[in-house]
Amino acid sequence: MPEKVAENFTLIKFSTNTIHMQPVLSLQAISKRYGNIQALNSISFDVPEGSVFGILGPNGSGKTTMLGIILDILRADAGSFSWFGTSPSAESRKKIGALLETPNFYHYLSATDNLNITQAISGRGSTPEIESVLETVNLAQRKYSKFSTYSLGMKQRLAIAGTLLGNPNVLVFDEPTNGLDPVGIAEIRQLIKDLAKQGKTIIMASHLLDEVEKVCTHVAILKKGVLLTAGAVDEVLTNEDIVEISASDLTGLEIIIKEFNGVTNVKQDGNHLHVFFPINTANLEEINRYCFSKDITLSQLTLKRKSLESKFFELTNN
Ligand code: ADP
Ligand code: MG
Repeated sequence: MPEKVAENFTLIKFSTNTIHMQPVLSLQAISKRYGNIQALNSISFDVPEGSVFGILGPNGSGKTTMLGIILDILRADAGSFSWFGTSPSAESRKKIGALLETPNFYHYLSATDNLNITQAISGRGSTPEIESVLETVNLAQRKYSKFSTYSLGMKQRLAIAGTLLGNPNVLVFDEPTNGLDPVGIAEIRQLIKDLAKQGKTIIMASHLLDEVEKVCTHVAILKKGVLLTAGAVDEVLTNEDIVEISASDLTGLEIIIKEFNGVTNVKQDGNHLHVFFPINTANLEEINRYCFSKDITLSQLTLKRKSLESKFFELTNN
């Protein structure tokens, strides 16, 4: 029996053809306080699968606290988080490799012997895997050299090799390039990109905007425990105008808007489109008129203009 609908009722049809991928990690209103310091204030964001997700913020903004909470080292005062769509468990924890503090490697032992110890203590992975993780971090040729002969970059690559034991899907790194020389920094950034290419999701804290731009696909910007913004790097840290539009016929809208003068890129994001223009050139009235002339009525039209400079300003000013 068909349902009766009041005659003057407008039915709003939502697009159902969008595929929403399960985020690897989802945070809902996480808060944490140390005495009277509010280290995190109701933080919510999602980490998409396969992303290199940067947690960006100056020192003291709450990055390490955030990583401690998602790794079950610290307890949040309020809020919740889920890994792989389920509440955290020993099972989900096995899929996560983490590097928060520099591990204590034995200076007089080789990379292989050090990782044998890491493997035995952590119980993650197996002895035969050691060879392959050393290969991944490009230390295979030096695997029998003493740790004390390694450069800072090599030491950090060995630490990352340790997190790869057990082949976790997700890697969490706290300021992985901190304290390294320029060569070491370049090596680690390249390694992170290579790991992402292999399909790992990487969550990394950094206080360097430049690093996040170079390495990350997504970012959450923290300042004094408050989330300023989160999203894809090319949208959050952009020098372009982004106009968010939607209509009931999203596919039709995408086809016509690509033809609109000045558009440099169009991306679908859930139930709306993000239309990119060179900075300060998007004209909402003209967009609206154009779509209407093509028989498409917009249900949303918003300008999200965020320049790199303005983000920097928010980040570095008190
Ligand atoms: P970040 O990693 O971004 O530098 P942290 O998460 O380490 O930031 O610190 C966030 C805030 O919480 C800072 O003000 C810091 O001083 C404070 N804090 C961190 N750990 C503790 C602690 N164990 N006790 C008291 N305050 C802390
Ligand atoms: Mg920190």
